Amino acid sequence: MLWVISGGASLALLSVVGWSLWHRPAAPVQSPPAAATAPTATPYGGFRRALVIGRVQDLAAALMAEGVPSDRALRLGLLANESLAGAPGELRVSLSFPTGQAGSVETVELRRADGSGLLIQPDASGRLVAKSLASDLNVRIKVVRGEMDANSFYSSAVAAGVVDLLVNDFAGAFAFDFDFQREIRPGDIFEAAFEQKVDGQGDIVGAERLVYASLQTQTKSRALYLFQPPGDARPSWFDGNGASVVRGLMRTPVEGARITSSFGPRRHPVLGYTRIHKGTDFAVPVGTTVYASGDGVVDFVGPHGGHGNFIRIRHSPDLQTAYAHLSGYTPGIVVGASVRQGQAIGISGNTGLSSGPHLHYEVIVDSAQVDPMTFQTTSGRSLNGEALAAFRKVRDRLDALRAAQNG
Ligand SMILES: [Zn+2]
Repeated sequence: MLWVISGGASLALLSVVGWSLWHRPAAPVQSPPAAATAPTATPYGGFRRALVIGRVQDLAAALMAEGVPSDRALRLGLLANESLAGAPGELRVSLSFPTGQAGSVETVELRRADGSGLLIQPDASGRLVAKSLASDLNVRIKVVRGEMDANSFYSSAVAAGVVDLLVNDFAGAFAFDFDFQREIRPGDIFEAAFEQKVDGQGDIVGAERLVYASLQTQTKSRALYLFQPPGDARPSWFDGNGASVVRGLMRTPVEGARITSSFGPRRHPVLGYTRIHKGTDFAVPVGTTVYASGDGVVDFVGPHGGHGNFIRIRHSPDLQTAYAHLSGYTPGIVVGASVRQGQAIGISGNTGLSSGPHLHYEVIVDSAQVDPMTFQTTSGRSLNGEALAAFRKVRDRLDALRAAQNG
C-alpha cells in the first residue's frame, strides 16, 4: 500500500513488507573521476549510461571517457557548469544514446543527492538547451512495534526491525522519562517510526531518522514526536501536548539501550548491600557511553577510592551528579570543563569497589546523596502559538500514518 500526500514534499507511506527497500544501497560509490554502471539497452537500439561525478567540472572528461567526441563533451560540460553555477558536490549523470553510437549522446541529466539538477537536450534546431530539474524527494515513514525481551532494549529493538544505529536514538529519546534500569520490563511495548527520504529513482538519500517513539510499561505510557520548533538549531522530542521531554537531569545518564540486568535477578535494594547504597546502578557492559545528565562544570575527574575512576559535575551551587567505576574519560573532560546535558563524558567500566560492570550514578544535593529515582527536576518548556500549531500538524500526520500501518 502506498499513500501519497501531495504538496511541496510529497509524503509516501511504505508498508511493512516494503521495509527491505530501505536497505537498498545509496548512489553508486564513486571511483574518480567517474564510476559507470553497465549500459542499459533501450527499445530503440540505443542505450543509456549512468555514472557519478564528483563535481560538475568533471562532466566533460567523464563524457569523453564514455566516447563522446571532445567538442560535444566540452560544450555539454560548459553548459552544465554555467547552469549549475559550478555548484560543488557529487552529481549522478544519466546519458542517453538513442542511436547506439557513443557520439550520439542526446540527453544528459545531472542530479544532486536531493534529486535537483539539470536536463540538457537539443531543441528542434539542434541547439543544446539546459532545463532545471526540481528536487524529487519523497519521504517514507516506516512503523515498527515490538515487545521488550528478557535481555536488553537493544536486542528487543533490533529484533523488531529497528536499524541498530537508531536504537540508541530511541533510548535517548526516553532518557528523561524512564529509568531504563528499573522501569522497563519484559513484555513492555515499544513503537518507533522512521523517516527515509527517497529520490525519484527510488534511491535512498541521507540517513534514516527516528521521528516517533513510544514506550508503554506496566505503570506508564509515553509517546514522543521529533519536532524542530522555529528558531531551534535542531529537532528535539516533545510529548503529544507539545511539552519538551528535556528536564534538568536525565533519568538514564548512560546509553540506555545497552542496559541489561534490569531483567535479571535483582538484589533487594536494602538487603543487597551491607551499607546504605548512596546512588543508583545501571548494569551496562564495560565500554558503554556515559552522559552528563545535565548542563554543568566538571569538578572532579580521576580515581576516587571505592568509586574507581570517577567524574563529578556541578550543575548549580547546591546540585551535583557523579559517575563511578568508569573505564575511561572522554577527551576534554577535565576539572573546570563545561559540559552540556547529554554530552558524552566517559566510558562505563568496573573499576574501584565494583561487583561487576555497571555505572554507579549519584545525585548530590547540598553535599548529600539523594535518591535519583525520586529526585524531582524542573520540567521542560511547552510549545505555544505558531510553534504549537506546527507541532500539531507534525503529530497528526504521524499519528495518521501510524494508524494506517498498525491498522
Ligand atoms: Zn552503585
